[in-house]
Amino acid sequence: MTQAARNVFVASRLPKRAGVSGWVATLASRTPRPALNGSVIADVAIIGGGFAGLSAARRISRLDPGVRVAILEAGVVGEGPAGANSGFIIDLPHEVSSDDFSGESEARFRQSVLIQRSAIALASEMAAENGWGKDIFDPCGRYSVAISAEGDKHLEDYAQQLSKMGEAHRLLTLREIRAVTGSPVYTSGLFTPGTVIVQPAAYIRGVADCLKEPVALYERTPALSFERLGTGWFVKTPQGSVQAAKIIMANNGHAESFGFFRGRLLHVFTYASLTEEFDPSRLDGERKWAATPALPMGTTVRRIGTSGGDRILVRSRYSYNPGIEISDAAIRRAGRLHDSKFSQRFPTLGGVRMQYRWAGAMALTRNHVPAFGEIERGVFAACGCNGLGASNSTASGIAAAELALGHESELGRVYTRLAAPTALPPQPFTTIGAKAHLAYREWRAGPE
Ligand SMILES: Cc1cc2nc3c(=O)[nH]c(=O)nc-3n(C[C@H](O)[C@H](O)[C@H](O)COP(=O)(O)OP(=O)(O)OC[C@H]3O[C@@H](n4cnc5c(N)ncnc54)[C@H](O)[C@@H]3O)c2cc1C
Repeated sequence: MTQAARNVFVASRLPKRAGVSGWVATLASRTPRPALNGSVIADVAIIGGGFAGLSAARRISRLDPGVRVAILEAGVVGEGPAGANSGFIIDLPHEVSSDDFSGESEARFRQSVLIQRSAIALASEMAAENGWGKDIFDPCGRYSVAISAEGDKHLEDYAQQLSKMGEAHRLLTLREIRAVTGSPVYTSGLFTPGTVIVQPAAYIRGVADCLKEPVALYERTPALSFERLGTGWFVKTPQGSVQAAKIIMANNGHAESFGFFRGRLLHVFTYASLTEEFDPSRLDGERKWAATPALPMGTTVRRIGTSGGDRILVRSRYSYNPGIEISDAAIRRAGRLHDSKFSQRFPTLGGVRMQYRWAGAMALTRNHVPAFGEIERGVFAACGCNGLGASNSTASGIAAAELALGHESELGRVYTRLAAPTALPPQPFTTIGAKAHLAYREWRAGPE
């Protein structure tokens, strides 16, 4: 790298919206914070207003309420992946009985639990402070659901792992899981009580809107470039600039758009659809539940009961998109898959249509570690969510904030000991490999 390349980092691309999330569309409107217009001085500039960026800002304000923070969010808070996901803030390693999980050592399991529960602790603190109701933040736990003999076996194996680790859980028989979901297809279930279920757009808006001076949030304000200025950094935006001593990159896969972690991040999209409201009497079972699939590549389903009627969320399909953008056609294709998963699971809801469809970007690493740490003097990364950003990116944001402020904690020690993301094979091998791997794992997930 040349000297100039190390001193100036220019965004080669900016995030693009992928459909309108039903979570945002069904909320009351919110006035975004104004875009940055002019020059500001801050102690820390945070690039990205998702789980990582907003959690970093929250942690900084807790550690030292005098630190001036400027958060730059390219879009509108809640409209990016952090507000568009399925809303599971999961407390346990998620790869339920995947090949990877069964070999996982106890130490790695404990480490994941520490990371994920640190995120839940921060989120719970904010929920309590702000009096968020269960429509926004519900510590109700999660079901894992099976639909095949292979899925049943995975849940049993996972339950055994949890027993070994002393983690609370309950296996549900076919009859019991059907009584929860009202769906005739599920063959068994596993309940774990520690997951928090959020309305993701409402949650992430809530996190943003409870940040107070001297934390400033600028929406519709992409960071276009940053360069060294004395001992700090000068960040340019379309109509202004931030001069800051430190930067936290909390823009997930778009860290690569600034030249960081090149060839180390796998840009994968996943897709969701949300039904129109239906009369709750058309579906037996509980009116609110959230279920992830027994096999990691399967289909996530939630039922959301409201006073106006109920809705079902279906999340399924992964695609590898190295340009970090997808077409409307890709959303439509995933939508057809969602429709078939939905009608198979809920035959009594014939005629209920999907009202919203969308997708969102995730950044995975080959060795499942975050893209974390001080990547240039005074520039800290909290990126590479590995698909579980509600907990992992929240925790990365906390750890990056602590690292930037020189605060020591157990979480920080865990993060600084993590390996760096390993290099992906050169192109076109990564594309061929990623597409083949996703297709194979989706096929393995079968009906799940
Ligand atoms: C449909 C779907 C369902 C999912 N379900 C779950 C789930 O249930 N549980 C879970 O844990 N995870 C889930 N995920 C994954 C989760 O949403 C992501 O892992 C998470 O959003 C990552 O958080 P983050 O803060 O790291 O990044 P993001 O949420 O992507 O936030 C990064 C932000 O940076 C901004 N940005 C990028 N470039 C710039 C720039 N140059 N200047 C300023 N801002 C910039 C973006 O606009 C974005 O808002 C799901 C994802 C999708 C799409």
